[in-house]
Amino acid sequence: LSTNNHSSARDRETIEQLINILRPQLGDENILSDPNECWTYGYDNSRLHCCPDLVVFPRTHEEVQVIVQACHDLLIPLVARGRGTGTTGAAVPIRHGVVLSTEKMDRVIEVDPLNRLMIVQPGVLNETVQQTAKEFGFFWPPDPSSASVCSIGGNLAHNSAGPRAIKYGTARENTLGLRAVTGQAKAIQTGFYTTKGTVGFDLTRLLIGSEGTLAVITEATLKLIPLPETKSLMRAIYKTMQAAAQAVMRIMQQPVIPCALEFIDTACVNLIRENSSISLPPDANALLLIEVDGMRAAMPDSLQAIRDCAQAPELIAIDTANTPQAVTQLWQVRKALSPLLRDIAPKKINEDIVVPVSHLAEFIEHTQFLAEQYQIQIVNFGHAGNGNIHVNLLIDPNDPQQTKNADDCLREVFALTLKMRGTLSGEHGIGIAKSAFLTDAIEPNALALMQQIKRVFDPKMILNPGKIFSSSEQNT
Ligand SMILES: Cc1cc2nc3c(=O)[nH]c(=O)nc-3n(C[C@H](O)[C@H](O)[C@H](O)COP(=O)(O)OP(=O)(O)OC[C@H]3O[C@@H](n4cnc5c(N)ncnc54)[C@H](O)[C@@H]3O)c2cc1C
Repeated sequence: LSTNNHSSARDRETIEQLINILRPQLGDENILSDPNECWTYGYDNSRLHCCPDLVVFPRTHEEVQVIVQACHDLLIPLVARGRGTGTTGAAVPIRHGVVLSTEKMDRVIEVDPLNRLMIVQPGVLNETVQQTAKEFGFFWPPDPSSASVCSIGGNLAHNSAGPRAIKYGTARENTLGLRAVTGQAKAIQTGFYTTKGTVGFDLTRLLIGSEGTLAVITEATLKLIPLPETKSLMRAIYKTMQAAAQAVMRIMQQPVIPCALEFIDTACVNLIRENSSISLPPDANALLLIEVDGMRAAMPDSLQAIRDCAQAPELIAIDTANTPQAVTQLWQVRKALSPLLRDIAPKKINEDIVVPVSHLAEFIEHTQFLAEQYQIQIVNFGHAGNGNIHVNLLIDPNDPQQTKNADDCLREVFALTLKMRGTLSGEHGIGIAKSAFLTDAIEPNALALMQQIKRVFDPKMILNPGKIFSSSEQNT
């Protein structure tokens, strides 16, 4: 991507005009125009970068409305940004323009324990929501590994999740309503204050997962869940990845739904051996982390039900982490896998496909075949209970043959996923990284409808242009 400091399409005069409109509303301290300062707001975890012309820090819904109105009138692209931890380039301002950072919209507005909900501004960190909810005996289910550094706005815009989605669902299932500002600078309120409601179209679920292309979210009413009385974490060690994947299927067919069911493949098992003090048998080639929550009295039976499903000739051992330290260590190791992969290869292409759990074993097997065919290391781990696997292709980007092989291999991974009736992203979204594959995943009539909806919310196409749809259609 361009690393230009300046917008090529827009002259400095228009940006000065914008600054003059915004300065009285926001104050100088909430506007950055120096390219050196704007620079850090041009990236996300995709490592793509493009410098914005201006970065603004609104504190309220009303200030967001003023910013969107000005960008709309002056035809300037606007990208909402939480903390830039997304992995698909969705927060990268590829057409320069304005980055609207929600860093200063970080207030918990209200906690209503009687109705089990919390209202927050979008810049609140996921971890803050969890800590606040915990004080009242609740939690909010979406729990990305990046919880300590990612915002609720980003979680909603990507429909982010994590291990708990298997039992409690994603951001979509755990958000009651939103306040937002559309691309036409219209303030909207969606959804309900109640846990049921069927009045009109479900705009809340439409905005969730829309990656900042339809509206800027300024407030969210989050549905809270009571903390379980107890939790137990089990570790099942297998000789083969296929046996572990088949156990996932059996676990998901019985009534004790785990609150996490994570799959870890051979390459990751080796990484754990090399980078942690956890000891694993020499013939271990796959792990399942299985967490069960619920009432204390029911726990022995629940754990036994899981143990029964985990049985297989290839099962080496299944044990329960019996101290809080052991639980923390296992989760830390699982969550460290993604960053660790960055250390063992110059580049990792990190996908998050989803396949029906019945195809999990076949999918994992096929990726091993593709790894051999294309001479690329492929590492798989993830939220197996949902069939959501992080497929990581580890490559050297300076090797043109490997880069080509990775492209071809990825195409096959996606084709296989869709053939199995899976989908291309479970939680990271499309951004720019996967927009070229959108037409493979969505049938033409549905795609056309989505593009029409985009135009209704944002007729001048100023909101996060070039994301999700790789269409050349653009105004900004
Ligand atoms: C180490 C690591 C681990 C991760 N683990 C997980 C994981 O387990 N599960 C998972 O799902 N993801 C994970 N992620 C990805 C990432 O953390 C999530 O996608 C997260 O939700 C992004 O939040 P953010 O605040 O950084 O958003 P950003 O990256 O800043 O933005 C993401 C998208 O949201 C839009 N956006 C942000 N705020 C708003 C708003 N107020 N209104 C409208 N649009 C908005 C942006 O325009 C962009 O399209 C991980 C990332 C890292 C680096």
